[in-house]
Amino acid sequence: MIRLYDTMAREKRDFVPADPKRITMYVCGPTVYGRAHIGNARPAVVFDTLGRLIRHHFGQDSLVYARNVTDVDDKIIASAGQEAVDTNVITERYERFYLDDMGALGVSPPDIAPHATEEIGPMIAMIGELIASGHAYAAEGHVLFSVASDPGYGALSRRDREAMIAGARVEVAPYKRDPADFVLWKPSSANVIGWDSPWGRGRPGWHIECSAMIRAHLGETIDIHGGGLDLIFPHHENELAQSRCAHGGAPLANFWVHNGFVDMGAEKMSKSLGNVVLVNELLDAGHKGEVLRLALLSGHYRSPLPWTESLIAQSKATLDGLYRAAGEAEAGEIDAGVVEALSDDLNTPLAMARLGALSDAGAVKASAQLLGLLTMSADEWFRGGESGDVQARIDARAEAKARRDFAEADRIRAELTDEGVLLEDGPGGTTWRRA
Ligand SMILES: [Zn+2]
Repeated sequence: MIRLYDTMAREKRDFVPADPKRITMYVCGPTVYGRAHIGNARPAVVFDTLGRLIRHHFGQDSLVYARNVTDVDDKIIASAGQEAVDTNVITERYERFYLDDMGALGVSPPDIAPHATEEIGPMIAMIGELIASGHAYAAEGHVLFSVASDPGYGALSRRDREAMIAGARVEVAPYKRDPADFVLWKPSSANVIGWDSPWGRGRPGWHIECSAMIRAHLGETIDIHGGGLDLIFPHHENELAQSRCAHGGAPLANFWVHNGFVDMGAEKMSKSLGNVVLVNELLDAGHKGEVLRLALLSGHYRSPLPWTESLIAQSKATLDGLYRAAGEAEAGEIDAGVVEALSDDLNTPLAMARLGALSDAGAVKASAQLLGLLTMSADEWFRGGESGDVQARIDARAEAKARRDFAEADRIRAELTDEGVLLEDGPGGTTWRRA
């Protein structure tokens, strides 16, 4: 049994999917106009891991995981304007980067990746239904959701009306009946991306995108809706209101699951890490994707995660240890204790502790793979990360020998031997292998 903390209920609940053969999970995906920050990677890694756990419990084909791509947005339009290119040049470039960066962290592509620009029809349809049922109104080329029409509004974020208005940083616009009302559709000027609609040429607001795509791809009520906790308000509150009002009160999701922030301020970064926080920069700096993945999973997903250099170093050391423990073993049985820890609201720190205590190499490998770790052979892991470093010391040893400093040459060989690297001198030079 999987238990998950449901933000709506504010408690852990048994996860009982409506249809265990078709479990539906939707996670709000990237707005594609820039490179992904390590904080953007946390939901991708967390929900990838939850997806692996669900497939482990219910079967490989049990889950339909959708993560959208927001490819129409004011920030995209601004970015395209700066480069004097069409918005799709920006969105295609950064979607590719996003998939590359997340792929490096071992995040599998979702089963469905709906793009907002390809789903305008379903959005216009849902907006029309909301107008027809009195939950939305058109004004000056805009369509707005009427918050006052939905008595259940605020249930997810549990904010009072004043806090909601302040939190949404809403503009008081003359076309709004109420400052809390939010945009479903807005007008596009002639040189800005837009689509024809019953309310004039325009483009959708962000929130309606998710509501319409969830219905189109997964249904009216899904099992899990996920995202970062910064999305609870206003984004998820607004998605929920739109969908519930369009569907006669049916809830949008049976579980609302939110991950905490990556906290960049806990420790001053040293020069070597600098202020590197983009995933691709961390990878370029030589940190392996699996190390970053483990770093992101090392704290419980609902807690803030202090992002520090020591966290990255500790994650690398942990993986080095696990790769040594697994050796070249084939994946065996997944350890029940690891599964139990993950099944308790995705308790990855406890799962890692149990993983570290396993003695059977095959169980280490299989259990780590459930977390998306230990995906390569030990040989590949150590050579991939250390080959440059080992080669540099082999070169230094050769230089020491050339100047007849045999003490230094022997010291380097002994140091490498201590690390499990065996040198073999041959006619073609020195080769090395792991003991
Ligand atoms: Zn969303």
